[in-house]
Amino acid sequence: MKEEFVLALLGTGGVFALNPDDIEGRRMTPAEAVAIFSHFGAFWQYEGDPCATNPHALLKSGLHSNGFIVCKDFLKYPKICELFAHEMLKTLIEKLSAKDFEKIGVVASSAYSAINLGWEIARLLSARGLKGMEYVPVEKDEKGNPTKIRGGIDPNKIVLVINELMTTGTGSTWETKRAVLNCNGDYPPPKIIEPAFVLVHRSKDLVLADGSAVQPVFHFDIANFKPEECPYCKAGSQAIKPKIGNNWQLLHRILV
Ligand SMILES: [Zn+2]
Repeated sequence: MKEEFVLALLGTGGVFALNPDDIEGRRMTPAEAVAIFSHFGAFWQYEGDPCATNPHALLKSGLHSNGFIVCKDFLKYPKICELFAHEMLKTLIEKLSAKDFEKIGVVASSAYSAINLGWEIARLLSARGLKGMEYVPVEKDEKGNPTKIRGGIDPNKIVLVINELMTTGTGSTWETKRAVLNCNGDYPPPKIIEPAFVLVHRSKDLVLADGSAVQPVFHFDIANFKPEECPYCKAGSQAIKPKIGNNWQLLHRILV
C-alpha cells in the first residue's frame, strides 16, 4: 500500500486496520509513523521558529522541550507494537551483515517501555528461523536505572540490544548495553552485536557512552533545554505540561 493510502486510512481512524503486509517491500515513512504516534496522543513537535504565540513543553524532569514523544502509549497495543517491530526488523536486515544477523541469539531491552518491542523483535527473529532465540528484559534498580539481568546470559550467545527511545548516549540504551556486559559478574560476558537499534531516536548522539554505534529506525530533531537557557522562553513562548488540562490541544494549536 502506498504512503498516501496508508495516511488516508490513518486519517479516518483506521490505525488498527493497518497490517505489516500493507507496508511490505518498503520502509514506513516518518509521516506514517507520526500519524500513528499522533493517533495515540503520543507525539508533538514544535513547528517553525520559537515565537511567543506557540507554547512549548515543560517536561517532568523540569527541562523544556520542542517536542514530546511517549512510546509506551502506542507500544502497549500488540497490533501497533507488531507494526513497529516489523519496521525495526527491516532496519536490522538492512544494516547488519547476513552473518551478524544469523548470529543473534538474544534480544535484550529495558523495563518497562522497551519490553513489548524487545519481545516482539525476538518473536519475529524466531519466526525467521533463528534457533534458540531468547528474550531478556533488563530490570530497573532502586534508582530507576535498567541494570539488572536475572541469572545472567550464556556467554556463548550473541546479544542484540534494542530500545524504544533514545534521548542521550548515556541514557537507557547505554545502560541496557552495560547491564548485558556486566550480567555475568566475574564470569565472561556474552558478546554484543554493534550497533544497538532504537525505534525512535531524538538524540544528537549517534553513539553510546563507550563510542559504539546506534542505528535509529526513525529520527526526530527534538531538543531539551534548561529553563534558563531555553530559546523558546527567550522568544516569549510559554512552557506548559503537555498532558494537563487543554495543554495538548494548545501545543497542537487546536486551541489558540
Ligand atoms: Zn522554555
